[in-house]
Amino acid sequence: MATIFLSIGTNLGERRKNISKAIKLLKKSVGRCVKISDLYISKAWGFESENEFMNVAAEFETSLQPLELLKTTQQIEHLLGRIDKTQNVEYSDRIIDIDILFYNNQIIDLPHLTIPHPLLHKRNFVLIPLAEIAPELQHPVLNKSIKQLAKELQKSN
Ligand code: ADP
Ligand code: MG
Repeated sequence: MATIFLSIGTNLGERRKNISKAIKLLKKSVGRCVKISDLYISKAWGFESENEFMNVAAEFETSLQPLELLKTTQQIEHLLGRIDKTQNVEYSDRIIDIDILFYNNQIIDLPHLTIPHPLLHKRNFVLIPLAEIAPELQHPVLNKSIKQLAKELQKSN
């Protein structure tokens, strides 16, 4: 069994519903949900949008290998994206985004999969919810805890 951390975000449609649907599907196809953070609201990051994001961080247990996990999370994104596709025209906005933050303490560098997620330490919307559920978790590349990374990012802003 692997312990994994995911970041789930949405800024379109019924955001609360999108997140709970994603979690339901993740429980079905990824494994047991160990912890889930509160919902965090933030402005769109990296692009202009009127639609604010809602994000959560979640810990799961899984027997899936990293690439199987990516395939599964992408299938869930696809499944949820499809439901509302016709109602939305904006490309950058997202009905659902599931990013794999950590897979045990493994370091993975494949063409389509980088773990730890390469931008996690630069994003408050990832670090703040993650610090709520796993403050002492060590980043295996940066060798700092999530609590430390969150503190450093707040200072730099
Ligand atoms: P982003 O999340 O960066 O806004 P996407 O969700 O569209 O963008 O993902 C783009 C690509 O990132 C995916 O096709 C996937 O192969 C790749 N990727 C690399 N590492 C990861 C990871 N740790 N978690 C999720 N996707 C990843
Ligand atoms: Mg993504």
